[in-house]
Order: sequence, then C-alpha cells, then structure tokens
Amino acid sequence: MGLRNQHITKETQYQYVNWPVVYFVAFLHSVAVIGIFQMFQCNWKTLLFNLIFLEYVQLGTMAGVHRLWSHRSYKASMPLQIFLAVAQTAARQNPIYTWVRDHRVHHKYVDTDADPHDARRGFFFTHLGWAFMPRLPQVIEKGEKIDLSDMRSNPVVMFQKRYYDIAAPLLAFFFAPFITWYFFAESAMASFTVGMFRHLLSVHFTFFVNSVAHSYGYRPIDTTISSSNSMFVTVCTMGEGFHNYHHVFPQDYRSNEYGLAICFTTYFIELMEKLGLAWDLRTVSKETVLARRRRTGDLKTNDVGNQTNDDCIEKEDEILPY
Ligand code: ZN
Ligand code: ZN
Repeated sequence: MGLRNQHITKETQYQYVNWPVVYFVAFLHSVAVIGIFQMFQCNWKTLLFNLIFLEYVQLGTMAGVHRLWSHRSYKASMPLQIFLAVAQTAARQNPIYTWVRDHRVHHKYVDTDADPHDARRGFFFTHLGWAFMPRLPQVIEKGEKIDLSDMRSNPVVMFQKRYYDIAAPLLAFFFAPFITWYFFAESAMASFTVGMFRHLLSVHFTFFVNSVAHSYGYRPIDTTISSSNSMFVTVCTMGEGFHNYHHVFPQDYRSNEYGLAICFTTYFIELMEKLGLAWDLRTVSKETVLARRRRTGDLKTNDVGNQTNDDCIEKEDEILPY
C-alpha cells in the first residue's frame, strides 16, 4: 500500500496538479464574489441565517472534528456527536475519518515531508495548494500507520463516512440557499451566491490555521516548530489561533493557554458539559505550561505579541486563569 504515488516527489508533484479540481474551486470562488455584491441587496434574514449557519459549521470543525475526534480532548454524548457531525459534513472538508487521519499525521510529522501541509513549502501550498496535488508517498505511508481504531469503532463517524459524498455537497451548497429562498423569499441568485460566499469563508477560516498559523505570529511555548499563535486566526476560527500552544499541548480542550472571551469554541464545550452532553474535559496545568515555556519557548514575547521582560512573565504567570 505504501508504494502508491512512489514516483511522486516534492519536485515532480507540481506536474500532477488536478486541474479539474482547480477549475471547480475557481468557479466556486467566482460565484462567491458575486455573493459579496449580492449581500448588499438581500434581506437581513438571509444574512442572519447565513451568519448563524457559518458559526454552526465552524463548531463542527473546531469543537467536533478537531478537539473531539482528532485529539479526544473531551468526551461527547451521542446527540452532541450527531449535532457536530452534521455541522462537520456541511463544512465539506473531507469526512471526519479522513480529516482525523490527516490531522494526526500533521501533528505527529509536522514540518517534515510526511506533513500533508508542510509549512516549509510556502504559504500557498499550506493554505490550498496541497489539496490540488496528489499526496507524497511519505504522507500516504504515515497516514496508513496512524491509529484510527477509535474512529472505526465510532458509529457516528462511520455512518457519516458512508453518506458523506451525497450529504456534504447538499449541506454545503444547497441547504442554506434553499432555506433563504423558500422561507425568506430571497431571490434564487442571492440565496445561492451568498450561500457560496459563506461556505468558502468557513473553508478559508479553517485553512488559515494551516497557513497563517504556521507562518506568522508568535511562538511563546516552543520556538523550534513552525506553528505560531495568531490573534487573526483566533478571531476567524472562534479560538483555534493559539497554534503554537496547541501543537505542544493538543490534548487541552481549550486549545489555548488563556481563557480569552473570543475563544467561543471553548465556551461551547463548557456549556455542553454543564448540560451533561460533554464530560472528561482535559486540560494542562499552568505549571506544566510555564515549565515548557521556560525550556523551549520565547520568554521575550507574550502571547499577543508584546515585548516582555522577566517581570512581565511573572505577571503573566499570575493571570493564567487555569
Ligand atoms: Zn498545525
Ligand atoms: Zn490539532
């Protein structure tokens, strides 16, 4: 199995670009650009519905396939899993099973040839380029060795995998446009194009974690890895931008070292715990975080990028909420 794509290397990979996919993605973006203009003419209910749907879909990625399924940072009841699996399907970023495999490989082999979106290969490759090309043999080989037994024994994950090819385009492209056209009397043109803009926004927001949060920002916890803390990505993704921290402590359900109000995903998981739908939320003690930071981190820059000195670091120690 590991022999597949054996003839493909980093140098020759560009000769095998999947052009139909490139044209399709270009077409989707053209429709989304029309949607930006249509947003100024459509009714407020269309905008509000798309905004709520965008946040719901984001939860499927951030609270669902990332923090729950990829990193098992908390446990979720069946109703919550179904709620998140539907949202993740609407994100149309591969089935949960595939996403988890790729993400675990990304964490384990970050900044190597086996990383599906290796940050050493530039911004465009990490953001979108990797999706246009066949995978390197190293990526396939490591992906086949990653333990996915928890995914295979999860009925929600396996059910979604079976129906993903039909369900994902329906939910990503047609569900919201149908609602706004049928219930809010929005024009078919505005419904579809604004819906496409919303869909691509959620895709790019997620991909910013691979591109922006592996290129720009600060590395307070570990300066030796490409992943970085980026406030821009934090705002776009409801709290996934503390990516330097996340790569060091992926098991932390908060995915950041601060309890910032913009980390909506963290509050969502805590709300689910209060409702009895989530439990076993895993964290990392602030002593462990600080010890690691002193060992491998950048002590001169704090998490929002301000220059600090040793006094400030002691104060930061005090404001760490957990
Ligand atoms: Zn990463
Ligand atoms: Zn992760």
